[in-house]
Amino acid sequence: MDSTARRFEDNARTALDSPTLQAALAKLADGFPRRRREAAERLPEFEELRDAARAIKEHVLDHLDLYLETFERRVTENGGEVHWCRDAQEARETILDICRRVGARTVTKSKTMIGEEIAINDYLEENGIRPVETDLGEYIIQLRREPPSHIIAPAIHLSLGEVAETFRKSHTHLAPERALNEPDALLAEARAKLRPDFLTADVGITGANMLIAETGSNVLVTNEGNADLTHTLPRVHIVIASIEKIVPTLEDATTVLRVLARSATGQDVTVYTSFCSGPRRPGDPDGPDEYHVVLLDNGRARLLETEFRDILRCIRCGACLNHCPVYRAVGGHAYGWVYSGPMGAVLIPALLGTHEARHLPNASTLCGRCESVCPMRIPLPRMLRAWRERLHRERRTGWLARIGLAAWAFVAARPRLYRRLTAPLVRALGNLAGARRRFRVLPFLGGWTATRDFPAPEGETFMTLWAESDRGRTKP
Ligand code: SF4
Repeated sequence: MDSTARRFEDNARTALDSPTLQAALAKLADGFPRRRREAAERLPEFEELRDAARAIKEHVLDHLDLYLETFERRVTENGGEVHWCRDAQEARETILDICRRVGARTVTKSKTMIGEEIAINDYLEENGIRPVETDLGEYIIQLRREPPSHIIAPAIHLSLGEVAETFRKSHTHLAPERALNEPDALLAEARAKLRPDFLTADVGITGANMLIAETGSNVLVTNEGNADLTHTLPRVHIVIASIEKIVPTLEDATTVLRVLARSATGQDVTVYTSFCSGPRRPGDPDGPDEYHVVLLDNGRARLLETEFRDILRCIRCGACLNHCPVYRAVGGHAYGWVYSGPMGAVLIPALLGTHEARHLPNASTLCGRCESVCPMRIPLPRMLRAWRERLHRERRTGWLARIGLAAWAFVAARPRLYRRLTAPLVRALGNLAGARRRFRVLPFLGGWTATRDFPAPEGETFMTLWAESDRGRTKP
């Protein structure tokens, strides 16, 4: 997928001006966060589970090579094959080679963010193979040729009416006057349209919520059951997963599962949780003849030794997006690439480079809600600050910001000068503010005052008040 991350500011303005997007995002503000909170409250050991899940992933990152090799051994013993891919191009070519070898013409897919990351749909199409998304949200955005706007709810930016319009434009063989104003009608139509593709696809591609080293299995969680049809019906099952998806044991996988669904959708458990461990064995009633796991690095191993290592614990639950005030204002497309919200603002610069994603670490108020709800306790605000520091060092921030920060650093490091400058400034602003006690325009702060007032400082600075109270205390 082509990135528009460098146009974040324009993307965000467009998003803020879209009434339909704003209406869709308003629904998000109540739905997912409330359900997550209620699910967490129902489980007394939720916080302990978060600690346990975090410890599992930390342990894995310390021994990633060991667990990946164990996983490969188990997959091979089970009759499958692991393909190691350094980057997106290698992964695309590997998948295409498999599809070509088995003469695939139609490929069904269940939702995979790694599939988006390597833009596998476009690549297959360019090479004469028809990819069909089977997750309802992914199917809708595939028809609209749009990227996902949320990692667990890819079509969350659309209204019911927009989805109905998309179906009418795409499913031209159906009666134009049919009723499509209820979610159930849309669901039934998508199901009827997808059913023949499930039955005739030559290859099924899925992602993996986890890979289990102990058993060589991949774990898939869905609420629609589409992943199960995708991996059991075609002759070949290809799993695309990034290297950090590994967990050591089945027991560890169940610990992570217990925090995943609660953090993502507020469910105690997703409707379908599937474990696939290889091709069909003699006597199995169903399953594929071939099982391949495409293991993608794409820059992740490099992150292990950096201050951004913690993002490799991410299990893509989407909780940080759902609680982020910036994501909830501009939605996922503004971020310009596959990932969005706080986890995207940390991961995209790591995968695409700071030249492409220099705006994203600044797309945060650093309020800390993302870290407080993240099931893996990933310190997202700390990493966003680390990116900001790096952008500053690389001189990728604007000249005004650089001069402002240099001036601030100079003054802040000299307490006496700081007090001498801020006390009269605060007093002057307080006097100038007038009866409204706020400013509509201020020099150099046009970005702030364009959309909101700037509150006037009230009274004296803290340092002045402190000095006065100190004098009061030391009077004989
Ligand atoms: S960073 Fe945390 S909250 Fe955000 S998607 Fe990843 S695991 Fe979920």
